[in-house]
Amino acid sequence: MATFRFKALEEVMNRVPGPLVRDEVLTSDYYGTLVFDKPKMKKYLSREAYKAVMDAVETGMPIDRRMAEQVAQGMKAWALENGATHYTHWFHPLTDGTAEKHDAFIEHSSLGGVIESFRGDLLAQQEPDASSFPSGGIRQTFEARGYTAWDPSSPAFISETTLTIPTIFISYTGEALDYKTPLLRSIRAIDQAATGVAQYFDKAVTSVQSNLGWEQEYFLIDEALFMARPDLMLTGRTLMGHSSAKDQQLEDHYFSSIPTRVNRYMIDFENEAYKLGIPIKTRHNEVAPNQFEVAPIFEEMNLANDHNQLIMDLMHKVARRHKFRVLFHEKPFSGVNGSGKHNNWSLSTNTGVNLYSPGKNPKGNLQFLTFVINTLKAVHDNQDLLRASILNAANQHRLGANEAPPSIISVFLGTEVSKMLDIMETAVTDRKMTPDEKTALKLNIGRIPEIILDTTDRNRTSPFAFTGNRFEYRAVGSSANCASALIVLNTVVANQLKNFTTEVDKLIEGGTKKDEALFQVLKRLIVETKPIRFNGNGYSDEWVEEAASRGLTNIKKVPEALSAYLRPDAVSMFEKLDVFDKKELHGRVEVEYEKFIKKIQIESRVLGDLAINHIVPVAVRYQTMLLQNVSYMKEVFTDGEFEEMASGRKNLIKEIGRHISTIKQKVYEMTEARKTANVIEDVVEKAIAYDETVFPYLAEIRYHIDKLELVVDNELWPLPKYRELLFAR
Ligand code: ADP
Ligand code: MG
Repeated sequence: MATFRFKALEEVMNRVPGPLVRDEVLTSDYYGTLVFDKPKMKKYLSREAYKAVMDAVETGMPIDRRMAEQVAQGMKAWALENGATHYTHWFHPLTDGTAEKHDAFIEHSSLGGVIESFRGDLLAQQEPDASSFPSGGIRQTFEARGYTAWDPSSPAFISETTLTIPTIFISYTGEALDYKTPLLRSIRAIDQAATGVAQYFDKAVTSVQSNLGWEQEYFLIDEALFMARPDLMLTGRTLMGHSSAKDQQLEDHYFSSIPTRVNRYMIDFENEAYKLGIPIKTRHNEVAPNQFEVAPIFEEMNLANDHNQLIMDLMHKVARRHKFRVLFHEKPFSGVNGSGKHNNWSLSTNTGVNLYSPGKNPKGNLQFLTFVINTLKAVHDNQDLLRASILNAANQHRLGANEAPPSIISVFLGTEVSKMLDIMETAVTDRKMTPDEKTALKLNIGRIPEIILDTTDRNRTSPFAFTGNRFEYRAVGSSANCASALIVLNTVVANQLKNFTTEVDKLIEGGTKKDEALFQVLKRLIVETKPIRFNGNGYSDEWVEEAASRGLTNIKKVPEALSAYLRPDAVSMFEKLDVFDKKELHGRVEVEYEKFIKKIQIESRVLGDLAINHIVPVAVRYQTMLLQNVSYMKEVFTDGEFEEMASGRKNLIKEIGRHISTIKQKVYEMTEARKTANVIEDVVEKAIAYDETVFPYLAEIRYHIDKLELVVDNELWPLPKYRELLFAR
């Protein structure tokens, strides 16, 4: 066993980075070559078909059969010219990752052979065998079939030899079974709501686009070491392992030079990403050893999210070429930072204005403040929903662990914007404002600099931070589909913007002037949202106390957090904005509970097996070696000498014995707890049982294993240790 471990390490050390492969061309020369983008559509589609696709993208109008047929022929021609042999509908089911089933273009020809064929109906809609995807009971109750439907707003692309068509995935009765469908609905909701508010400032605004710039964190582990860790292979995280004597305490990894072998890997997957039109911009080392980040230039949200899913898949594939494995798990190693996925979120108008950028004049600045304040209100009123949208079995390990997703939701605005809100609060009076007061306020509003300076010292401890021209939602987990968080964020902000217009319009109808109406409602919102604003250290104990005194919620338990989705006010908000109906919401939450249960169930089984099959036998072997050693000593030394020399060893033998019996006992108890939990029918009750009666054993058993790791002979230890996993590359 020990030799295996060292063989694995030996393999790592022998890995020489391959030659630097870089195409002798500029990135812009091959960027998007594998995407059926606008220029290619123009070339391969009739003018009529091109227009139909553009209209569908802009207005959401469906594409009729005849046009779909034409688009299919154009796509096929382009795909065949570029080496594609198959096509697939690609979608985001409620599992992690994406799903695809490839079909060859071939069909029988009349002459007995085959010909390449692709039809409009196959482009527009398909019926994959959907029975194995999670639906939270929707499909069982209503209709067994589900189908995928083309999303023309995200362009088709070629992945290896397959023409890949982004699609939504819905049940036959129309319920969403994926992430994309509700994401698109929430994008539509916020478009409508934000357009309404933007029109107070500029009548030329007719649509508002949501933007997303994700920052993806990940760990890289050498393949040989990964293979020697069944826990990593099966659960994505280490269920045991004593911390390395050195880990991130020197803070010497963040932004340091990227190791050559890692850099080759990055170059390789980035090249592939460029061909797929993913605008990768940034790469760097992260805080923990062997942890890295990749980020693109932000894009329209639906496309950006497809790109995030796509790159995760790509990174897995390319990692194998480099004998690496990439870990997207939120907390693969205890004791060092886990991984997140910052979601940089903003809204921009068809007139080219970023609604979260300070404007060039008082009017633009008032619009900016209006959007910031309404966002504050949305977060303030929906803390629990936002938390529910990011919390799961994996991300819970980062809660309250000096990492971005805290169990308390707060918003960082920075000093300059905070100051502006304070000025507005005092300047706006309860009575009708005098013209002088209004002018003074507008002057002040006009003073917001176009570029907000204090974003440079931005607060890294805030889960939701204003960073100059966008909000950065930092609580999202690294393995998550961003849509989970964005659907909620878009919906709550859309809801608030709608409420805002209703209120302002009412005042205007009652005779209040527009700017005065805006001031009045904004002032009230500033006062109401004070508790959610926090510019201090979100990781401090004082903040936990202070947040409690402000009445903010603090929830660490996944089952409890998830229940926020099903509160009557949440259900009616999702329904009102056409993002989820009640049935969909219930189905989705059920899937979340099931995922939570299954993840802990798997971790518990894997840990039990490893403890009993790997750890206990090795500990027993070492204990036996010590026992033999002691008994030989007894033969050689006098009684006095023996007492003196063997006492430490005897204590160690006892200590090992205690750990072994505790581990066995706890594994037994954990298995019993699982059996009890498994017979619970109600999914919420079952999740609570798993959380309260099974989950704690993971840490308890690990504690004893990690203690054994410290004392058992290194040569015998069956698993690669943290120092090897985190530093070998
Ligand atoms: P940091 O790590 O300092 O937060 P990065 O440069 O790594 O910054 O990432 C910032 C991300 O925010 C990038 O994806 C960038 O494209 C994105 N971004 C910048 N401006 C906007 C905006 N207005 N809306 C959405 N995303 C934005
Ligand atoms: Mg960031």
